[in-house]
Amino acid sequence: MSVVRCTIGRMPIPATVDEAVLVSRTGVRLTRSTTFRFTLDVNQAQHRALLAHAGAARLAFNHQLARVRANLDQRAAERSYGLAEGQLTPALSWSKVALINHMNAWKDGRDASAPVNPDGTRGLAWRGEISADVFECASVNAAQALKNWADSRQGTRAGKAAGFPRFKSRHKTAPAFRLRAKYTEGAASPVRPTGPRAIRFPKLGELHVRESTKQLRRMYDSGRFHAYAASFRFERGRWIVAVTGVAADFHHARRDIRDRHQATVGVDLGVKVLAVIADEHGRVLAAVEGVKALQHAQARLKLANQAFARTKRDSAGRRKAARRLGRVHARVAHLRRNLLHELSAAIAKGHAAVVIEDLNAAGMVSNRMLARVVSDASFGELRRQIEYKTAWYGTTLTIADRWYPSSKTCSGCGQVKTDLTLTDRVYTCPDCGLAIDRDVNAAINLARYTGPATAAPPLPAAA
Ligand SMILES: [Zn+2]
Repeated sequence: MSVVRCTIGRMPIPATVDEAVLVSRTGVRLTRSTTFRFTLDVNQAQHRALLAHAGAARLAFNHQLARVRANLDQRAAERSYGLAEGQLTPALSWSKVALINHMNAWKDGRDASAPVNPDGTRGLAWRGEISADVFECASVNAAQALKNWADSRQGTRAGKAAGFPRFKSRHKTAPAFRLRAKYTEGAASPVRPTGPRAIRFPKLGELHVRESTKQLRRMYDSGRFHAYAASFRFERGRWIVAVTGVAADFHHARRDIRDRHQATVGVDLGVKVLAVIADEHGRVLAAVEGVKALQHAQARLKLANQAFARTKRDSAGRRKAARRLGRVHARVAHLRRNLLHELSAAIAKGHAAVVIEDLNAAGMVSNRMLARVVSDASFGELRRQIEYKTAWYGTTLTIADRWYPSSKTCSGCGQVKTDLTLTDRVYTCPDCGLAIDRDVNAAINLARYTGPATAAPPLPAAA
């Protein structure tokens, strides 16, 4: 049986994930890449263990960079003495495999350059306390960063040009590390929920989380989710873990569009409210608001910022203000994340077919509700979420092309008004006399869009 690797939005299932993992123990194909995030509740010993893992990841990353840098410098120096290319110190490979092999030999004491301990043994004395995968993942990160730099120099990099990777500083880089859940046929996953608020990880053991693991547990127990990695990050005084894995398609009942609103709906990101959902017959189905909590938190963030700015350097007051600022920052970040997920879920569920505007173009209109409460960059994230969630729920998605005049067209008679400004909250048609809320008017027009369609990538059919 061939297994299709699914790419939804920008979340491809990594090629390193074992093919066997993509079929659950109950025979269900796992095709959907998904992530569960939790805040960890750790004791002092666990906090130290997590910090040690992050320290090991930083050490491994920096060691790889230093080694490659030294080799490059050596060769540059030799060239400056006039040595021929063939006589230079051989260049080091920085492929992922080469870096992983070197790291294992170095930390285990098999490499000539391995550290020597006071008792004469070789290798990192404390390596046994750290999950070996942390060293491997950090080496893979270093290989990727070096590749980005090399590709930029040769002009073959598609994205933004990257310089030589920076060394990670203990003080300036947030402690973070990643480990993979290495899967053994027939055995329980090394990353798995073990209680209502507990998850087990390799080497770290069972850790408590603040959020309920109910959804993760249900999917794991029924064989519909398999974790392949866990990324840990210490930010704003707390450890966050993202458990990434592959999941089965939603149950076909949840992908059934027959019980939903059948008429095509348009979604306009509103000026007055977050989004308006209306159908082609002019019925308004929803006006999504839900920004009050976020606006309130943003006001508190401003106050916390001001309070912090008034404190003196190195004072107890500054430390206290910094803690408060961190807490408010975290709350704003969580509310923003929630808002985008709630909005994209509201759009994807409950409709058979949805038309949205081209969000790359929409991002340019700065005085919309969404741009005001979230950020301009969120339009791309919102589009990504809408694309993969409509695919999950079996909803047809159409993206109107950016020149479609959804705001300027009269949904009553079809006339296009060219002098509409953003301050016109009500669309008034000079031809047919229609007076309608501008956001509702735009949503209706989107629902009626018949131009060239850009459909989201379909999910692979179930086996
Ligand atoms: Zn009209």
